[in-house]
Amino acid sequence: MEQLKARIRHIPDFPKPGILFYDITTLLRDREGFAAMVEALAASYRDAGIDVVVGIESRGFIMGAAVAQALGCGFVPIRKPGKLPSSTLRESYALEYGTDTLEMHTDAITPGQRVLIVDDVLATGGTAAAAVRLVTAVGGDLVALAFLIELVFLQGRQRLPGAQVHAVLRYASAVTPGIGARIKADARP
Ligand code: AMP
Repeated sequence: MEQLKARIRHIPDFPKPGILFYDITTLLRDREGFAAMVEALAASYRDAGIDVVVGIESRGFIMGAAVAQALGCGFVPIRKPGKLPSSTLRESYALEYGTDTLEMHTDAITPGQRVLIVDDVLATGGTAAAAVRLVTAVGGDLVALAFLIELVFLQGRQRLPGAQVHAVLRYASAVTPGIGARIKADARP
């Protein structure tokens, strides 16, 4: 787990002042890191009878599709508005930095299918809660939500009552040493 954490870059004040952004591109580009991330997300669900993995745009597509492949099941995208071509359901939600809306095809999940929701970061939980509402609205059987990163101090789990939530990496506070912090430190005179 520490090796995964070490591959995540932390960018202060992105996309706006006061936000510490967890940049996973430095993990994704690393062959061993990417494989370890997918395995850590998928491992608990190999025998869970998952039918579909639902990934949330956009980083949830990267890891969600890989986890679906690892579990041998299908993949369903939850997208930002106006991207899905067929009939959709929509849910609005609050982000750590702003508000947004998500959509899913109404026929993406067959009622009773066992669903695993995957995303990169659980922050305030608004995005994940909207995804849960979309999945349950079409009759999906939500087995669990799996995240690479949980920002524990933002208490996102409180917005997911009754759901099984798994996070590979948990950060207790916003100030975390990482690649970004090291680059900044190295740059100091
Ligand atoms: P939230 O709805 O607050 O739980 O936000 C979760 C979504 O916003 C995830 O899809 C993340 O991709 C993104 N996100 C929120 N906060 C951060 C952060 N500090 N670093 C990177 N991504 C974030």
